Amino acid sequence: MLKHNLGYPRIGIQRELKKACEAYWSNKIDSNVLFEIGKKIKKENWKNQEKAELDLIPCNDFSFYDHVLDMSLLLGVISESYLSIPMDHNIDLYFSMARGFQKNGWDIKAMEMTKWFNTNYHYIVPEFHKNQKFSIFSNKIFDELEESKKILKSVKKIKPVLIGPISYLFLGKEKEKSFHRMDLIENLVPIYIKIIQKLKDKGVSWIQLDEPILVLDMSEKEKKVFKYAYGEISKFCSGINILLASYFDDMSENISLFQDISVQALHIDLVENSSQLEKLISFFSKKSKMILSLGLINGRNIWKNNYANSIQKIEKAIKFIGEDRIMIAPNCSLLHVPLDIETEKNIHLDIKNRMSFAKQKIYELNDLEKIIKGNKKVLIKNSSLFLSEKSSYIFYDKKIKERATKITEKDIQRDNHFHIRQKKQREKFHFPLFPTTTIGSFPQTREIRSLRNKFRKKELSQEKYDEKIKNFIIDVVKKQEEIDLDILVHGEFERTDMVEYFSDKLKGILSTENGWVQSYGSRCVKPPIIYGDISRIGDMTVEWICFAQSHTKKLMKGMLTGPVTILQWSFVRDDQPIFHTAYQIAWAIREEVLSLERSGIHIIQIDEPALREGLPLKKKYWKFYFNWAIKAFRISSSGVKDETQIHTHMCYSEFNDIFEHIADMDADVITMESSRSKMELLDAFSVFSYPNEIGPGVYDIHSPRIPTVEEIFELIKKASKKISVENIWVNPDCGLKTRKWKEVLISLHNMTKAAKMARNKL
Ligand code: GLN
Ligand code: ZN
Repeated sequence: MLKHNLGYPRIGIQRELKKACEAYWSNKIDSNVLFEIGKKIKKENWKNQEKAELDLIPCNDFSFYDHVLDMSLLLGVISESYLSIPMDHNIDLYFSMARGFQKNGWDIKAMEMTKWFNTNYHYIVPEFHKNQKFSIFSNKIFDELEESKKILKSVKKIKPVLIGPISYLFLGKEKEKSFHRMDLIENLVPIYIKIIQKLKDKGVSWIQLDEPILVLDMSEKEKKVFKYAYGEISKFCSGINILLASYFDDMSENISLFQDISVQALHIDLVENSSQLEKLISFFSKKSKMILSLGLINGRNIWKNNYANSIQKIEKAIKFIGEDRIMIAPNCSLLHVPLDIETEKNIHLDIKNRMSFAKQKIYELNDLEKIIKGNKKVLIKNSSLFLSEKSSYIFYDKKIKERATKITEKDIQRDNHFHIRQKKQREKFHFPLFPTTTIGSFPQTREIRSLRNKFRKKELSQEKYDEKIKNFIIDVVKKQEEIDLDILVHGEFERTDMVEYFSDKLKGILSTENGWVQSYGSRCVKPPIIYGDISRIGDMTVEWICFAQSHTKKLMKGMLTGPVTILQWSFVRDDQPIFHTAYQIAWAIREEVLSLERSGIHIIQIDEPALREGLPLKKKYWKFYFNWAIKAFRISSSGVKDETQIHTHMCYSEFNDIFEHIADMDADVITMESSRSKMELLDAFSVFSYPNEIGPGVYDIHSPRIPTVEEIFELIKKASKKISVENIWVNPDCGLKTRKWKEVLISLHNMTKAAKMARNKL
């Protein structure tokens, strides 16, 4: 039973990679220094995994920016525009693809970036042309192999990792119409074969080809191409073992693809979906040679493995397939978890004892092996952790647990239908047509960031810090009055991050010191950890919002992060169904909403930018997801009176396939991104005749460009052709946190002018 790993975090324990890349980009270090830092991180990673006695250790899982972009470079999938920039070094070509190139009169845009399946990692989307040629362009994989040979004692232990050809094509995009990227397979496969043969010649005995496409609803074309590619590869690549890795969900629906394919091993994800094991075992017991790799350790969450559960699966597989045809591993690459729990000094031991980051997770494989070999002690120690759950005061709060199970229909229903609420709200607020507002945040200037740093380092007292934040609020209120916006906001200056702010204030969630995870390129995020039952200890935002309200006669909008977004951007406890946790957070947010209402705040926005990204990979699970996600939102929003207006905000504009669920949220007003799509998204809203009010963003906040009055007016006009004018709000696409004051002031001025023009003319 071989123990192996699919990939290791590459940011370095002190985020060395981030620092090195950023230093290189700003010309503070040269490429040699950058490469040295990369080598050090890799060496540390390999050594750790060798120490944990893994039988197969991944190589080529390191990347200076993104492993999908690495693949594009390896295969020579590089658009002309980048190749035409004069470069000294491939690394500069690489970074120009990732980040764009603006120098010496050149101005070339970065490649598109998008989410890696349903994770929070973003990859650079490969661009394919009609007659796309492939070649071995970069040497990275071979160089990295040579590096690893110097560190690891035996080349037999090294397992280079590549994205498999079908998933690679799937992840990319056609740059021209009139061809399908899957048709490029015939050009692509020979290059894969060459790469594999070259690796074999260098002494490698195992390679891993990641094919996460196997867990999706594959089209007939994709299946055909899959069979063709692996037929060819297994024909021409004898003498080397190929492990195909599926992850993030169940692949058993596509198992018949392996009927005629003879790769040596298949990896499956038993963390996300353990029910597939039965089907896989039955398939494997008929297939005489292939090895089944069991993905048992959770590479997407930070909890210790429950050994008893894993052992059960291993034993079952051994019984039917035999020990020599089983491998054990994490379910997916450990890229999605932080590096080492030992660097956390402030987490309560009861919780920390249950946690495991990448470095600890690879040792869990070792423990599982020991248990299989008869070591009972390891199992008993691990099992005791899971038994003590209910007795630990930190994890368990009976009252909250019960409340989450007693949510009634009334709790998720406003008192009256939207039409009645709308009437009451109109009588109360007297908004003009096309009311104007913003999404919440205003520029987080250097001054604010340095203020917060000083406060964190305790160079500034709480009182002094609060006083300064209040000054920013007074200032932003005045500015909004000058711009003549109708509904004001307080600017969110007290928040670094819209999730962290709330998780710091809620009981049952903690923040780590060093729990960084790569989000894209050099960017890392530090997800909070939901470790227990969640409750609201006291007001979280009320004081700030009321302070802001006290400085204006106009209406102040309260600003909250919604339950699905808090959940989606955190590591969530895995001992209860996710919807229980969602409802607990939702209830805490509901209490905050009610407290705001009692304090005289009658417009409250609950942001849900992560609602869409939580969607399961397989369509058949969507219904279940929306059931609890929309319910969670409604728990948080439905406690208020008819006259209180609930807003929600989402950053994206793909609504066509989820439209009815968005309508189901029953927010009085929804604001979203739409200026880039030139109001096209409203098509869905008009076709389905969306009942409630809508604020389609009229200016793109992702760019420093200032929109003119006329173009905003045109967008409002366009919107008014698609939805009833009484239901239209005028606002930017998203928060203004990342913009400069200079741009913001003029842009918002133009926006209010355009709204006034619309009131007169439309
Ligand atoms: N209210 C938040 C802001 O304005 C919303 C951010 C978001 O949608 N991602 O920054
Ligand atoms: Zn947004």
